[in-house]
Amino acid sequence: MTTILDGKTIAAELRQEVAKDVSALVALGGRPPGLVAVFVGEDPASQIYVGAKMRASEEVGIVSRTIRLSEEVSAEDLFATVDDLNHDDEVDGYLVQLPLPRGLPEREILERIDPDKDADGFHPMNVGRLWLDQEGFVPATPSGIVELLHRYEVPLTGKHAVIVGRSHIVGKPMAALLLREHATVTICHSRTRDLPAICGEADILVAAVGRAGIIGEEHVAPGATVIDVGMNRVRDPVEVERLFPGDERRREQLARKGSVLTGDVDFVRVAPRAGFITPVPGGVGPLTVAMLMVNTLRASRRRQGL
Ligand code: NDP
Repeated sequence: MTTILDGKTIAAELRQEVAKDVSALVALGGRPPGLVAVFVGEDPASQIYVGAKMRASEEVGIVSRTIRLSEEVSAEDLFATVDDLNHDDEVDGYLVQLPLPRGLPEREILERIDPDKDADGFHPMNVGRLWLDQEGFVPATPSGIVELLHRYEVPLTGKHAVIVGRSHIVGKPMAALLLREHATVTICHSRTRDLPAICGEADILVAAVGRAGIIGEEHVAPGATVIDVGMNRVRDPVEVERLFPGDERRREQLARKGSVLTGDVDFVRVAPRAGFITPVPGGVGPLTVAMLMVNTLRASRRRQGL
């Protein structure tokens, strides 16, 4: 029997808990947490992500705002925005939505963010804190995955976790968090030899590659837990048919939207083999937004000493 790990429901639970805790914070005489998103340019996907984050914030009682800057903004003006946010006492956390338009010094901007307000957890100080098991901001996607595994009581101690992908945003922080959970961790990437053999040894397999259906049956041991981080838009009707044979709903989606959202896991073929598996959509994605709320609340409590 395969259990579908329902990220959407767990994310709703998390948001409810945050809403309750925000009310409690205010009842104790604190102010509601403050979250800001800095959004530069017009990237449509980023626009959707920022919109989802801000809507979720408002729902849970976090005071949120978006600072929109033109694609033409100078590095100096962006630095000045970051400095203002660092000094604004009402702001507990903020993020600069990535990717930034070409020409802006992404690394310098991320490093200028006050690590104690670094909602995304991408500042080198927070990366260090994560690996040193110190308190700090942890990237939302991998921390959401750990939360999901805990809530479904998937055992982690002593298990072999294989992560495919070594990005700073997902793969590496995922490895740090699973180590903290006492899993034995292997990280794979584009130069890994014999990916199916290594993945096939995993009790927990996390796919964070960005290539539709790259993880097939041959990568998954019977009963393994499979976490699909990938979010890929498939536009080729032949590929949609290969990944979702005879799926009318997806055919119709392709015709209507011009693409189908798919994970890195070939869900149709892998799901019957897995013990637990996340769907796409409705798996990891909603948890990312919910964990940003959790992280902002934690930061606000720390900053207010409550
Ligand atoms: P990156 O492109 O930064 O990293 C991809 C990783 O996959 C790299 O480490 C790369 O290896 C590895 N890789 C590429 N091809 C192969 C291959 N053939 N075999 C093994 N490994 C390979 O991506 P991100 O980590 O930022 O994102 C990964 C996916 O997750 C994307 O689809 C993204 O949209 C999605 N995502 C989803 C989120 C959510 O909330 N659900 C949040 C963040 C990301 P190498 O280092 O050698 O190049």
